[in-house]
Amino acid sequence: MPVSIKETLANLNNKEEVFYYLCPVCGNIEKERPERYLMCNVPGSKFIKY
Ligand SMILES: [Zn+2]
Repeated sequence: MPVSIKETLANLNNKEEVFYYLCPVCGNIEKERPERYLMCNVPGSKFIKY
């Protein structure tokens, strides 16, 4: 499930280290790197980890 920006920013304030994966095509943020993002047909390796 895509994660809302609001939730992402809230989690960034946590001490716990959490990584997100940004789809370079549509900008959706996922909590786990997908094998292949079906919504955009993007391989997981293209996702931007941050
Ligand atoms: Zn996408």
